[in-house]
Amino acid sequence: MKKIIYILLGLISISSLSFSKEKVSMIIKNGTILTINNTKEVIKNGVIIIEDNKIIDIGTSEILNKYQSEKIIDADEGIIMPGMINTHNHLPMIAFRGLGEEGIKNRLFAYFFPLESEKLSRDLIYKATILGTIEMAQSGVTTYADMYYHMDEMAEATKKIGIRGILGETIIKFPVVDAKESYGGLEYAKKFIEKYKNDSLIIPALGPHSAYLVSTEKLIEVKEMAEKYKVPVLIHAAEFEDEAGRLPGKYKNGSTIKYLNEIGLLNKNTLLAHAIYLNDEDLELIKKSEVGISYNAIANAKGATGIARINELQELGVNRIGLGTDGPMSTNYVGLIQGLGYASSMQRIKYNDRTIFTPENVLEMATIGGARALNLDTKIGSLEKGKLADIIIFETKSPNMLPNYEPHATIVWQAHPGNITATIVNGKIIVENKLLKTYDLKKNYKEIKEISEDITIFAKELAKKAKEKN
Ligand SMILES: [Zn+2]
Repeated sequence: MKKIIYILLGLISISSLSFSKEKVSMIIKNGTILTINNTKEVIKNGVIIIEDNKIIDIGTSEILNKYQSEKIIDADEGIIMPGMINTHNHLPMIAFRGLGEEGIKNRLFAYFFPLESEKLSRDLIYKATILGTIEMAQSGVTTYADMYYHMDEMAEATKKIGIRGILGETIIKFPVVDAKESYGGLEYAKKFIEKYKNDSLIIPALGPHSAYLVSTEKLIEVKEMAEKYKVPVLIHAAEFEDEAGRLPGKYKNGSTIKYLNEIGLLNKNTLLAHAIYLNDEDLELIKKSEVGISYNAIANAKGATGIARINELQELGVNRIGLGTDGPMSTNYVGLIQGLGYASSMQRIKYNDRTIFTPENVLEMATIGGARALNLDTKIGSLEKGKLADIIIFETKSPNMLPNYEPHATIVWQAHPGNITATIVNGKIIVENKLLKTYDLKKNYKEIKEISEDITIFAKELAKKAKEKN
């Protein structure tokens, strides 16, 4: 008996020698890795080992002798970094992008809301989300936070393409496309949260529109619901100069931030979109409360709303700040790449200081900063052992990427979405060799063409009417 056991042990050790390389799901090699970890480590000739949906090892090419895989992605001397996080959007509005650009005053009320109330449908929201998430995946966005309607359609479309969504059903004081009653979004959100609370890609959230379009009572209800279901809250805040004039009771003409703080909504669980009009006390409240911030540089410039005091927040030590585009009628693309240099430039011009917002700083905001703002930094936002495999690769051989002296600078000041060669989310390849793997682009083209043909005439009439009111 003993002899047999010795023979068996011998066989096992021989077989483990010949298969000493651990089999893994995927290996990425031959690129410069921007880890965006705590020490901002950059790994030349880097390798990432992925098993299932997680990064299990990361290092230089030396670690290659420990692993084998049937799926090896050669980064071809490109730049490998964490997938970017777009912290504020209303993605299905991509069906309307390019409309209402005639110089309409008060565009939100005179154009957006009437257009949405006439043309939004479940079908449009699904198909537009397909388009939007395709563009995100192709632009290196692997996670986005959104406030809109029919969130179950958005969730299905987002999962179909395969990126992550923090989806907040809109709660607003008037009837909307998916709620006949005022504040119907609350009921809708409950069902949506129940359905998606354990999803691998979707994080259900609550999206009270703003402090001026949701009553105090309902905002408190949102807060309580968020605590009960343990879901994040996404809200527009301090976006407009005259916003405080629309706050209720004693808060009128005060501060949105102070108001949200006093009703208990300014906390780690909340993400404020825009946060432009802040006084010094607001800056301190933001720091103390650990509320997340979404900085939407292009949308705020295009809409002439202002430049947020992001640099001062950073100097105070606030690091829960991510980048956002806002809806596709506000920034007409949904990736972050085109806005990276912009996000930096707007701060430099505001503070008249060309030393702030370095490429490293901006890329941190686009990745781990956004993850912190959404309380996801233990899972995504950097490339480290144990984190989820949300990874993008830039090629560095196209003329616009040459020369490539310093990879952070190359991405922030030179790159465009066409330089993204691979997008991996949750360990799954969504884009490879610049090709989308999860949807037929011809089908998407046809779907969007049909939608836009249906919208054209109404949209032009509406623009004419809105312009007359200017
Ligand atoms: Zn918005």
